[in-house]
Amino acid sequence: MQGRGCRHCGGSIDLVLADLGEMPVANDYVDPIGAPEADAIVGLKVVVCADCRLAQTIDHKDASDLFRDDYAYFSSTSQEWLAHASDYVDQMVDRFSLKPGTRHVELASNDGYLLQYSIAHGLSAVGVEPCNSVADVAIAKGIDTQVAFFGREYALDMIKRGGQADLITANNVFAHVPDVNDFATGIYELLKPDAVATIEVQHLLRLMERLQFDTIYHEHFSYYSLFAAMRVFASAGLRVFDVEELTTHGGSLRYFVCRADAAHVTSPAVQALLDEELAYGIDRDETYADWAIRVRALRDEFRGMLKGLKSKGKSIAAYGAPAKGTTLLNYCGIGRDIIDFTVDRAVSKQGRMIPGVRIPIRSPSALDKAQPDYVVILPWNLREEIVSDTSLWAAHPHTQFISAIPWPAIFAA
Ligand SMILES: [Zn+2]
Repeated sequence: MQGRGCRHCGGSIDLVLADLGEMPVANDYVDPIGAPEADAIVGLKVVVCADCRLAQTIDHKDASDLFRDDYAYFSSTSQEWLAHASDYVDQMVDRFSLKPGTRHVELASNDGYLLQYSIAHGLSAVGVEPCNSVADVAIAKGIDTQVAFFGREYALDMIKRGGQADLITANNVFAHVPDVNDFATGIYELLKPDAVATIEVQHLLRLMERLQFDTIYHEHFSYYSLFAAMRVFASAGLRVFDVEELTTHGGSLRYFVCRADAAHVTSPAVQALLDEELAYGIDRDETYADWAIRVRALRDEFRGMLKGLKSKGKSIAAYGAPAKGTTLLNYCGIGRDIIDFTVDRAVSKQGRMIPGVRIPIRSPSALDKAQPDYVVILPWNLREEIVSDTSLWAAHPHTQFISAIPWPAIFAA
């Protein structure tokens, strides 16, 4: 499938960052009733451009057929994410002295989780959201939401209808955009000459440092270092004038972007982070090739650890059924012969199975009944919270924990 070249610059993409093999769609939890014999799988491979260093999935024509249209994520269900959105709006209003009536456009505005705070500040808020079902929720809340895929053409259309924007927000969408150049150029067009766009996206440097290969999904087409992101923005006429590190998704960046000739002074934080990336070797082929070797070593270590415990007659369960758990277990080839079941608080997942490896998902009370010797914590981002939740472990205090990322380890509560 290679040959088309880098999705940003057309450069060579022969350098492999991760080849995770055949993988099911990470969040397509299997209902045992009427399930096919095996789940649909598609190759999941991330390559790195030799020129701009954008990490990207190889296109699979058939991959888009796998994604269910009815899958809808409602941002407002997470209290933590709502607080993040509220803080963000407060910060932007304060830092850029946004007055009531200021035009604020959010791309991938979901159910209006963020724009509700913008409206509370008196801003003139408009959302662009491609998913009908979540857009409907926003519209029902009275938030002006247009159902569309954003790009240059749509930006020009928006300008005709309502003028340019003073602030553009794009959270958790930049990785999902198939045409990064069209998306970035759309932002350029829509921005007023001195306006600001902020873009939040997972940070490739942290993903690599912490071996978080399980956050690679078919739906994430691009993985950005600051190094690569600056090139994508620059080719659209945009400049990164500040950057903030966030803890979301194991380490994300909030890029502050303006038109190249805008008055915003570039913060020293941009060069400092770029220097950190260069010290890590983000511009060198060997860095990516070495990383691919470390991921394979992690897989062998993790599988060897679990098989070793199993051969001593130990029982192993898991906690959580996050999308990253699907990637981890399928890549490492760990199925029901090793992990008896996992548990998840989300009722919608209970009774289903992790796709591919088909490990059953039960309610957390199943742990009390089974009293497993070991529990693999799949959502490593919530590890401390889960392990310190005594209500989960009080009935079987001898249970020990296992985590795979950033390196396989056994630990007690
Ligand atoms: Zn490139």
